[in-house]
Amino acid sequence: MHELSIAQGIMANLRPWLDDQPENFRVSKIVVKAGPFRAVVPSALVGAWEIVRLDHPKTSGSVVDVDPSFIRVECRDCGHSWDASRAVFACDKCGSDNLEFSGGNELFIEDIKTYTCGE
Ligand SMILES: [Zn+2]
Repeated sequence: MHELSIAQGIMANLRPWLDDQPENFRVSKIVVKAGPFRAVVPSALVGAWEIVRLDHPKTSGSVVDVDPSFIRVECRDCGHSWDASRAVFACDKCGSDNLEFSGGNELFIEDIKTYTCGE
């Protein structure tokens, strides 16, 4: 399940930063930007995070939210261009497979919501 390794990667990235925060610092939400080429199943990542979040007291009550991005597709034959939410193999308009892609490979932490407990 590759979402579990993504969740573990998020934790590995956050851990040094979390360790530097005060004791009463808490993370409530982590927003992950994920492009279609990454094939992240949002519900699987949410579920994986429910396990991994317990590895650190400052994230144990947090949730992950997936913000999907798009692949910009341009047809080299007819010039048609559009945003696709999944990998495509043929032009929407002319059926050509002579396509150019940009974006869609994103996988990063876009936003982190935090709060201070006991205030
Ligand atoms: Zn086309």
